[in-house]
Amino acid sequence: MITHAKIHFNDCGTPVADDFDDVYFSNEDGLAESDYVFYQHNHISERLCSHPREQFVIAETGFGTGLNFLNAWQRFATQTEKKATRLHFISFEKFPIQRQDLARALAAWPQLSHYSEQLVAQYPEALPGCHRLHFGDVTLDLWIGDVLDSIEQMNFNQHGLVDAWFLDGFAPSKNPDMWQQSLFDAMAHLGREAATFATFTAAGFVRRGLQQAGFKVNKVKGYGRKREMIVGELEHTTATTNVPAPFVRHTRPLDKVAIVGGGIAAATLAHRLTARNIPCTLFCADDELAQGASHNKQGAVYPHLQADVSPSSELFAHSFLYAKRLYEQLANDVDFAHQWCGVLLQGVKEEGKKRHANLLSKNNWPQWLIQGVDAEQASDIAGIDTPYGGLFIPDAGWVSPVELVQALVTHAKQQAQLDIHFATQVTAVNRVGERWQLLCKNKGYDDFSDVFICMGEHSTELLPENELALQSVRGQVSHLSASDNSRKLNTVLCHKGYFTPAHDGSHCMGATFEKDTQARDIRDADDRTNWQQFAGFYGECDWTQELQDINGAKAAIRATLADHLPIIGQYAQQDDYIAAFPLLLKGQWQGQQPLRHQNPGLHLFTGLGARGLCTAPLCAESLVASLCDEPLPISNRVDQALHPARFIIRDLKRGQIK
Ligand code: SAM
Repeated sequence: MITHAKIHFNDCGTPVADDFDDVYFSNEDGLAESDYVFYQHNHISERLCSHPREQFVIAETGFGTGLNFLNAWQRFATQTEKKATRLHFISFEKFPIQRQDLARALAAWPQLSHYSEQLVAQYPEALPGCHRLHFGDVTLDLWIGDVLDSIEQMNFNQHGLVDAWFLDGFAPSKNPDMWQQSLFDAMAHLGREAATFATFTAAGFVRRGLQQAGFKVNKVKGYGRKREMIVGELEHTTATTNVPAPFVRHTRPLDKVAIVGGGIAAATLAHRLTARNIPCTLFCADDELAQGASHNKQGAVYPHLQADVSPSSELFAHSFLYAKRLYEQLANDVDFAHQWCGVLLQGVKEEGKKRHANLLSKNNWPQWLIQGVDAEQASDIAGIDTPYGGLFIPDAGWVSPVELVQALVTHAKQQAQLDIHFATQVTAVNRVGERWQLLCKNKGYDDFSDVFICMGEHSTELLPENELALQSVRGQVSHLSASDNSRKLNTVLCHKGYFTPAHDGSHCMGATFEKDTQARDIRDADDRTNWQQFAGFYGECDWTQELQDINGAKAAIRATLADHLPIIGQYAQQDDYIAAFPLLLKGQWQGQQPLRHQNPGLHLFTGLGARGLCTAPLCAESLVASLCDEPLPISNRVDQALHPARFIIRDLKRGQIK
């Protein structure tokens, strides 16, 4: 669990960390000091004018109050002449400041209020791992946890990630644990060609450590009354990748992409691509968006957490926090029905109760995210009587998936070019030279650099070889007219299925679960199953007595994979992996041949199951970031858990592929 910083404000109004007995920034003029030491001595203004990539990446040790970030953001935003059009700021923080302390500390800089108010609004709760925050052209990755642990979890490639380091942190004498040779080495490993650093200290061991790591180091005049500080540049790139060879993702110049699909995967992908100004064309087989598995009236948005912090739980926890931030930002611009009313996971059976008790006893998740409740507390939260306790996720809620998908696409269109072809069923995707062509019934569409298959249960239909073991699970959700009493329910109830608070006079109740079928007809029998299950758990409760009319239903097919995780990335074909990694059969990772895909640029984004509202935004963002050679917002192990080649690699290692 993360410990917050304990701070007080000294007579000058400067925040001071009690445990380190050190200030967050200078008593004299912290903002001017930040600009002088970190921004100017990394020569960022000048470098933005000649930067070879669209994105300039800064990484900082010790986020603290975010002053360095805000200064960099303001400087970037107000510089009109520049070649780099996006700023990516990575910061590491072991002892995050509480939100109210952050707001108080930043109130000292009214000239930054336009930026600091946005930061305070999005500032995340403290969960270890990466929290990606978007502020238009500026992205902040706040990695909560010790900088060295976080760097180990990051996914870094052989070109490096970072253009400039802000080596901050309390004074080396007050924080010796951080100022380690391993940190200096990691700075070099993550550095891109000609990466620079600047730091306020001139301590001899820091200078020598950075030299040893591969930086050319110079002493320069320090800020104000400080005599010296040090700055430097990487003499030669030492960047290495920490990703096992078969899991390495290849970057691609995405100049014109086709997205096939019309649900939450397609919409979030279009949203994250257009955020980077990449022109997209979306092919939707239906007359409208969200007619497949994303078509329910209300869908719960909450993280599916296990007692242990497994890669799956980590994905869900961070996906949930990212999705909520994105949906809240979206709701400022485009309307869609939603309610952050919390989700109650009710222990309706012994097995579920045991799972809940185990999760609480392991104590891996903070209370603000998920908390144990007894039946009385659950009833208070829900606004109706429920006989079950369980787990409550206060920040969760529900959204209208159809409206959400439409809102994402509307917003995506405001960000960059997004053409949509409705009622257009893609029948084949062909590689023509270096480009992709899509064939529809009467027409062909040419010249795409990349194609993304986001077709849920239909995703295998366009693959050249069907090597994706996608399973189909049918689910029917029933709609039930609300009564005066049932309207009092004000949170989502999850038992074995779910029951939502009333919206437009109806509740959603469901869902059935039937494997290996693609039938989407509405069945009375499934409505009865939903009702019987619900009545079996809540039939004795007052608020359910007048509920009876099922006034509609929706049936959908959810696409899942054997490990219940989504699949994101370049379509992986067995032959390509066997050719490149024959030693995997002996459990060895090294490639003998470079990995060459038969179908480069053909990507999958599917397998979201019934949890796409939670996972799709972060998965889409990760997928696009990896292709665009940007830092990833997920850890290495989560990235590998989502990799399209994971089943092939597993089978090769087990010797199950001959
Ligand atoms: N850059 C900050 C700003 O703009 O306000 C000030 C940083 S403050 C001087 C140093 C920060 O480093 C503190 O927030 C502290 O909690 C953090 N820190 C100290 N040791 C750390 C570690 N090992 N890993 C990550 N952060 C650390």
